[in-house]
Amino acid sequence: MSGVYERLGVRRIVNAKGPSTRLSGGPMRPEVAAAMAEAAGTCVDLLELHAAASRRLAELTGAEAGLVTAGAAAALLLGAAACATGFDPAAMARLPEIAGGRDRVVMVRSQRNQYDHAVRTAGLAIVEVGLPDRFAGAGCRDAEAWEIDAAIDARTACVLWVAHPRARPPLAEVAAVARVRGVPVLVDAAGQLPPKENLRRFLEEGADLVAFSGGKAIGGPQGSGLLLGRRELVAAAALQMLDMDYPPGLFRPDPAFLPTERLAGLPPHGIGRPCKVGKEQIVGLLTALELFLAEDEERRRGPWLEAVAALARGLEGLPGLALEPRLDLPVPELALRLDAERARLDARGLLDALVAGEPPIHPDPEELEEGRIVLRPDCLLPGDVELVLERLRVLLGPPGS
Ligand SMILES: *Cc1c(COP(=O)(O)O)cnc(C)c1O
Repeated sequence: MSGVYERLGVRRIVNAKGPSTRLSGGPMRPEVAAAMAEAAGTCVDLLELHAAASRRLAELTGAEAGLVTAGAAAALLLGAAACATGFDPAAMARLPEIAGGRDRVVMVRSQRNQYDHAVRTAGLAIVEVGLPDRFAGAGCRDAEAWEIDAAIDARTACVLWVAHPRARPPLAEVAAVARVRGVPVLVDAAGQLPPKENLRRFLEEGADLVAFSGGKAIGGPQGSGLLLGRRELVAAAALQMLDMDYPPGLFRPDPAFLPTERLAGLPPHGIGRPCKVGKEQIVGLLTALELFLAEDEERRRGPWLEAVAALARGLEGLPGLALEPRLDLPVPELALRLDAERARLDARGLLDALVAGEPPIHPDPEELEEGRIVLRPDCLLPGDVELVLERLRVLLGPPGS
């Protein structure tokens, strides 16, 4: 047990849910932690580091440019701001006020979610389109590309599309109508890794900017993210995040990263200044991304499949418990379905008991209403499988066993 947490009186948890913010992300690989510690010990010119990171991100992902951000939500804020202002320093300085400009984001109604605060923070209002009656069980349709087309007008800064296997209409169709109308498409792909092909996929399908979380599957610092995409938009985003406290003449970025010759003047600190990143985040995320891309996907899945198999073996025969391994997912998982009549606890009771134990065990509660809890292996530490098995056998086994 780590001394830093002990000194604060904070307990470790077993993270059987996967990387998520409220559970402090995932465990960081030692190589990433070491790279961050090394970066922390020396000062550099942050602008030079951002420019180098952008070049490296372009090599790794095929994007024209990239920016390390303080999370995917920060990337959405910065991306939306870039779409609203373009390369106009006066417009940057005015945000979140957008007088007479591009102050709206078109978004499919069924994709609205709690992270759209990020684009609203930049001063943009969301225009919803589509009637997702497939979710109400009252129909079978969702938004269609023509509806996005019809909603785009002179006030549209961008179309925001939230990547998910269920997302409708498909990105390629959305990008096609937006391209014709000259409006960029910003994609929220925060949690869409693995598979690692997705790092390139959304740009290939026509997105202009894509936001990824650095603290989820990539395994970077918990408070990091990526904004990838078109050079000009990434530059506008970067300008609105960077510290601009430069005496005249000293702001001299790599023109390939920030083409300042096209700026009418240097804007002051922008709307993204509250989501700054440090050298440690930049180096940590780049290191994590290199490791993530270098690792063979099947090899990465090997230990996860073993953990799921070990959990399933160890839980066989407990009364009222049905085991549903889902081995085909990018991250395989084990769903535990509890028969409320026969099991000692229902799904809600089991969740509460796991979280109340010592150390607390956190499964994924998303399917609680269907009577299931889900165990995921990608953030388990050595020994955690045994710990989870022991606890579940005590909670669900015959009394006194
Ligand atoms: C996790 C998530 C985010 C936020 O990512 P952070 O890196 O924590 O800022 C945004 N959008 C979606 C869809 C997510 O799943």
